[in-house]
Amino acid sequence: MAATRSGVSELHSLYAKLRTVQNQLQSAPRQMKARQQITAAKQVEIDATKEKIKKLKLSADQSNLQVKTNEAKVLGLKSKLNQAVSNREFDALRSQIEADEMANSVLEDEILAAFEKLDRLKEELTQFERELVTLKAAETKLAQELADAEAGLKAKAVEYERFIKQAESVIPGDIELAYRRMVQAQGPDAFAEVEGNQCQNCFVTLPPQTLVELKAGKIMFCKSCSKLMHIAARDDRDD
Ligand SMILES: [Zn+2]
Repeated sequence: MAATRSGVSELHSLYAKLRTVQNQLQSAPRQMKARQQITAAKQVEIDATKEKIKKLKLSADQSNLQVKTNEAKVLGLKSKLNQAVSNREFDALRSQIEADEMANSVLEDEILAAFEKLDRLKEELTQFERELVTLKAAETKLAQELADAEAGLKAKAVEYERFIKQAESVIPGDIELAYRRMVQAQGPDAFAEVEGNQCQNCFVTLPPQTLVELKAGKIMFCKSCSKLMHIAARDDRDD
């Protein structure tokens, strides 16, 4: 015999579908925010790299200036060397020149290292900027996808709400208030399937009489957990 779905089972299924659609609608801003945070983090990385480049250039420029100053100083010392009046003065000038030349050699190595590092940072910056373009494109695409999906999801929600209203005609007047309160607060969680002889929410074993009544289509709350019961679809057969 064909399986039949009770009105309560239909309501349970409709409330579950409505919740899925509502969850999708609610998750859209979170998805968008998460995507925007990734883009913003990349922008922070870019700004930090630009700042590093700026500082490194400044430091290399200062070192360059120092080298030029030292070179001028060495030239001056060298001209004094020829006019030295004593060996002692000569030696003192020689060691000063050596010290300045050594300082310049160190500075020049530093400048070279700084330029190598600058090249690496510039490559990194180019890479980050490319990544940012990709991320921004993905962000725009997601915003468009979410906007496109939103209209469809909202229409679905309205449709499910309409189906629910129709299906709710099975709810008897004497339990309508309690039913209404439960579905408003719990949505699909207001319902419980019955499989075999057990409520699938609280797993209490139902009395045989309750099962008979449920199968006959009576609408009842579980005495143990208060959920609105219905026979699970796979058990819902005439026998
Ligand atoms: Zn129960």
